[in-house]
Amino acid sequence: MPHSIDLSGRTALVTGASRGIGYFLAKDLAAAGAHVIAVARTIGGLEELDDEIKAAGGEATLVPLDLTDMDGIDRMGGAIHERWGKLDILVANAGILGVISPIGHVEAKTFEKVMEINVTATWRLIRSVDPLLRASDAGRAIVMSSGAAHSARAFWAPYAASKAAVEALVRSWAHETENMPLRVNAVNPGATRTAMRAQAMPGEDPQTLPHPSEVAEKIMPLASPALTETGLIFDVCKDRFVHYRMPE
Ligand code: NDP
Repeated sequence: MPHSIDLSGRTALVTGASRGIGYFLAKDLAAAGAHVIAVARTIGGLEELDDEIKAAGGEATLVPLDLTDMDGIDRMGGAIHERWGKLDILVANAGILGVISPIGHVEAKTFEKVMEINVTATWRLIRSVDPLLRASDAGRAIVMSSGAAHSARAFWAPYAASKAAVEALVRSWAHETENMPLRVNAVNPGATRTAMRAQAMPGEDPQTLPHPSEVAEKIMPLASPALTETGLIFDVCKDRFVHYRMPE
């Protein structure tokens, strides 16, 4: 239940907030009392979110930004520092699929774009807001991964590689900060009824999949100041954290 978590007075940055899972997480965070900084390229989607948040009595700041603009990410971190001096919640959710294709048929520009948005921009965002999250009394970082990071299924190579890299970033960051209040976790949302899933599985009936609002609701406890876990994956389908094991 997202609304049972009190996030009033807290600030939450959500990337990929214009649609899909990020949209509903942003909405839930605002409903729980957080001031939401909503990032994406599509202004229409951000404005729709803003309307919904305001209608429910919440607050948002819209940041139309292409996450390939790395200097823009740094500027955003600077602007959050100037206005709030800290950040309480990071939801690094924006991502792209690239292409479903045999590895040898992937075009270089497609591979590079997947890495740029899913990995480099996520690292740049982490670098930009890490001091701000450390300045919070209960900083929480939620970084969207995928089961593909582990299943490495055929034809998903660029996306799978990018999500494996994202999880490595999360785990290193969590180890660096484990003695601080900051808690850093990856999330595997599972198959969800969004544009990305439809691109990956065009033959699938979307109605058989959970709505992104249901998925967002399950992820909300990771934003709570009461959370203790760090350096783990939250598996939405199992509705619990799962632990890493070294390969045998
Ligand atoms: P959607 O495609 O529905 O939404 C993706 C979001 O990322 C949009 O808000 C989009 O905004 C934003 N985004 C993409 N590229 C950029 C960019 N260059 N700059 C800024 N924002 C960008 O995806 P989902 O909601 O399905 O996915 C959310 C996360 O969950 C992703 O990280 C995905 O990998 C992960 N995931 C999803 C699964 C699923 O089944 N849906 C399963 C496993 C993981 P805009 O286009 O407006 O810029």
